[in-house]
Amino acid sequence: MTRSVIVTGGGTGIGKAVAGRFAADGDAVLILGRRREPLQAAAGELGASVRFEVCDVSDPAAVDALAAALPATVDVLVNNAGGNTDFDSPAPDDLASLAAAWRANLEANLISAVLMTHAVRGRLSPRSSVINIGSIAADKGAGAYGAAKAGLASWNVALSRELGPHGTTANVVSPGYIADTEFFRDNLTDARRDSLVAATDTKRPGTPDDIAGTVHFLASPAARQITGQVVAVNGGERTTR
Ligand code: NDP
Repeated sequence: MTRSVIVTGGGTGIGKAVAGRFAADGDAVLILGRRREPLQAAAGELGASVRFEVCDVSDPAAVDALAAALPATVDVLVNNAGGNTDFDSPAPDDLASLAAAWRANLEANLISAVLMTHAVRGRLSPRSSVINIGSIAADKGAGAYGAAKAGLASWNVALSRELGPHGTTANVVSPGYIADTEFFRDNLTDARRDSLVAATDTKRPGTPDDIAGTVHFLASPAARQITGQVVAVNGGERTTR
């Protein structure tokens, strides 16, 4: 049976791989992002079962306006949109800029997931899944970005409790370093990349497909009793013990 899947930030990187994983099953996938070009390119590449809408999912008015374009029933919501907004702006030197920089990370990584989940709440099918893309940064400490991803994991605990009786699971997938995405912009030196890879037990960077496979599993019938969890996919860079 085909499912109805929404992937935020589905035009590039991890989100595109997640969308592709579900599309390969023949699922109807809606990908969202702020830029039309990568969304259009991804939808064209991934096949006829993938459609896109341009939407800033951290903007309440934009998410509200999306309602008519959302599927009537949602089986899987993947809150993947986000990133470290500090990469895009210089270090703030006054309190107003500091507050704006922190708010940008919280909005990109936490508020976006809260808004999208609220928007589809009434459409979630029984046995549905909400999967939030967190980060190893939540545990390593990484300023506003790490704090936002830690907040996402905390919010997920309450979300799981709230949606569980309806039959919906809510989990966080927490990637370590994942190569071949737009995440780092121009901020990843060769030395930093090498040190991230060296810190893994697998001695390789993660791939978008590593995350897509885990997301797909968490949305599968085999994972119905897994909820309220943070599932780390980081090549052993950090363990839970
Ligand atoms: P990308 O930058 O390639 O993907 C981020 C996607 O999110 C883009 O398609 C972007 O599109 C979209 N996006 C960002 N903000 C918004 C918004 N407000 N509304 C709608 N879409 C938005 O990087 P990744 O694939 O690596 O990142 C995916 C997720 O994985 C992020 O949450 C990131 O924090 C997380 N992550 C990544 C890691 C890595 O090493 N790569 C490690 C740990 C976590 P557009 O700009 O067009 O809106």
